[in-house]
Amino acid sequence: MSELPYPYEAPVSQALFDRAAAVTPGGVNSPVRAFRAVGGTPRFMVSGSGPYLKDADGREYVDLVCSWGPMILGHAHPEVIAAVQEAVAHGTSFGTPGEGEVALAEEMVNRVGPLERVRLVSSGTEATMSAIRLARGFTRRSKVVKFAGCYHGHVDSLLAAAGSGLATFALPDTPGVTGAQAGDTIVLPYNDADAVRAAFAAHPGEIACVITEASPGNMGVVPPLPGFNQQLKDLCAANGALYISDEVMTGFRTSRAGWYGVDGVEPDLMTFGKVMGGGFPAAAFGGRADVMAHLAPAGPVYQAGTLSGNPVATAAGLAQLRLLDEAAYSTVDSVSRQIQAMVSEALTKEGVAHTLQNASNMFSVFFTDRPVRDYEDAKAQESYRFTAFFHAMLANGVYLPPSSFESWFVSTAHDETALQRIADALPAAARAAAEATA
Ligand SMILES: *Cc1c(COP(=O)(O)O)cnc(C)c1O
Repeated sequence: MSELPYPYEAPVSQALFDRAAAVTPGGVNSPVRAFRAVGGTPRFMVSGSGPYLKDADGREYVDLVCSWGPMILGHAHPEVIAAVQEAVAHGTSFGTPGEGEVALAEEMVNRVGPLERVRLVSSGTEATMSAIRLARGFTRRSKVVKFAGCYHGHVDSLLAAAGSGLATFALPDTPGVTGAQAGDTIVLPYNDADAVRAAFAAHPGEIACVITEASPGNMGVVPPLPGFNQQLKDLCAANGALYISDEVMTGFRTSRAGWYGVDGVEPDLMTFGKVMGGGFPAAAFGGRADVMAHLAPAGPVYQAGTLSGNPVATAAGLAQLRLLDEAAYSTVDSVSRQIQAMVSEALTKEGVAHTLQNASNMFSVFFTDRPVRDYEDAKAQESYRFTAFFHAMLANGVYLPPSSFESWFVSTAHDETALQRIADALPAAARAAAEATA
């Protein structure tokens, strides 16, 4: 603790973290939660309400992580909670089809034009893994193109130059992924359509699909340059490959129809998670009916899940999506704009070089004065300034993503009081960022 720029105590969280470390590797069930990129004691949360989280030491924070995106209506939204209570009272899992999963699929298909058929799964990782298997099965080709800094979950073949977690830990790769698994993956710089063209030229008839984050948020927020997604789609179409848009983060967050609703580029396959689960493990992949028809039991490509379409998760997801109308999105967008303006003003006042980037209401702060277009640019920022900024915000009751390679997330519940708390915390944090040394 003493080496932190902002020492402060979190004794109950620290005791829980020590207990956790005795039974769970690193004390957490997902690496970024361990605070390794910023140091210090991860806060063990006990409750959430609207824009606030409360930790085990009794401190309250304005939450700018929102469970990494899902909690777009804030924590414990009464209508979502009521839908969950209603569902759970009827039993928690049947291992049979049920109406809830049909209703959720209908809601998704109605919102997203290119989503003609959808299959529900339990995590974003499962969704991208299954979409890639389907693309390979459909095209009868083996190679996959992905972009450096794009994260698609911890799918073996996609853990090459991934963003979140790996960027945080600065690991080039992960043990346990074999050469054969990584060998069919072609990793290219993001926002570089020429590199994609060259890859198709170098591997004629071999590339099954190009998978990209619809608008990347796992190396910080790095939106596609104008026309980039359309170029990907056109190159795939010209070369007999499928264009897979990973909307696990952007789906039902960046608009009613996710990033598709923003740029209108029609993917062959799409993946979803986060917002669509309403805080429960629900995710999905889907797209063109003729491609999805290759999936078991309709077709030969196998895919399954004991808890897929779980009645409680689908009830939560459906309740959340039904509340997400145009008014809700304009509230989230407006909250996001206000926070971005406050952050930029505070950093400018202290003379801290920074670049704020957004993709509708997703945004992040890069501690550099240059625009960030790919992973190399993102890594060139002064991350040590973020560490100081993060701890000062935390000490003053604002919970940011514990890494400079993550998007910040807001909700409809971030009201004037919550925004004022952020405003009050910013001056000291900006000063800490200005005074930080590498
Ligand atoms: C979060 C995320 C995933 C992985 O989802 P999990 O539910 O964590 O497995 C995949 N793709 C993107 C773009 C994500 O942001």
